[in-house]
Amino acid sequence: MDKIYSASSIKNRDEQYKTTILAIDDAKDILALLDSDLSAEGYRVLTAKSGSQGLEILSAEDIDLVLLDILMPEMSGPHVLRAIKQNKQSKIIPVIMLSASEQSQDIVSALDLGADDYVTKPYIPEVLFARIRTSLRHLEINRELEKMASIDFLTGINNRRQFYHLSNIALNKNIRDQSSLTFGLMDIDYFKNVNDTYGHDVGDLVLADFSKILSEHFRGYDIIGRIGGEEFCICLPDTNVSKGLQACERFRKAVSKNRMSLELDGRMVDLSIKVSIGITSTKQESNLELLIKQADKALYAAKNSGRNKVCEFK
Ligand SMILES: [Mg+2]
Repeated sequence: MDKIYSASSIKNRDEQYKTTILAIDDAKDILALLDSDLSAEGYRVLTAKSGSQGLEILSAEDIDLVLLDILMPEMSGPHVLRAIKQNKQSKIIPVIMLSASEQSQDIVSALDLGADDYVTKPYIPEVLFARIRTSLRHLEINRELEKMASIDFLTGINNRRQFYHLSNIALNKNIRDQSSLTFGLMDIDYFKNVNDTYGHDVGDLVLADFSKILSEHFRGYDIIGRIGGEEFCICLPDTNVSKGLQACERFRKAVSKNRMSLELDGRMVDLSIKVSIGITSTKQESNLELLIKQADKALYAAKNSGRNKVCEFK
């Protein structure tokens, strides 16, 4: 049966796809004006009457652009700007400063602090809209670059840098929650033979196929990545070692059952690969470096005892 949406949920659903602008200003009349002007332009508008409230909204909502007043009691605009630009999650979000001041010193210092643009109040709506569009174009390019810098181009999964970044966040959260996390290193068995026998193009296809099975076999919140040639990594939050072992065992079997049919020099070739996996799980004192070392030892044991195996660090 089709899901029935109420009128309000349809509205919420549509609102989610709109570009969201957060306006931070201590003057209520300015916030009301920005809200009505920008909503009329088709943006979703959130407003905050102080810097601290603005930062709270920023950490809880997906914001695409910030309009930020300079002169505010308690936390000033430049102070808020610094907090936005120093935070890894929010530094990419463009910030346009809004101020009644036309003093060149204020403009220069705001831009030097990382503001993307500067608009004086009272603003001319068409000019503000055009500047917002420009900043949003830059955001789109930056998001694309950020994605390129975090994705392994061959397989489309996390690259080493992004994998370690996401794993560190998950690890800290698990230690805080006193929950256990399973970490694993995997290596495709005899991958060099694939490259030597069929060439690197086929090798690349095998890596992509392997990554596809990897993405399908683990949960949406598990972290997977390619960290080297034929080396892959998994990080399974809220998973003890026996559950992690089961998950990896299922994956290992799926890999060994998988057949890739390829046309090579006019004839069909069936290719299959196998994988060795070493896993470990967290203790209270764990850090990423230690988990990598332990998983590597377990992987070495898996390879040393005949490959196509999952071994646990002991
Ligand atoms: Mg003000």
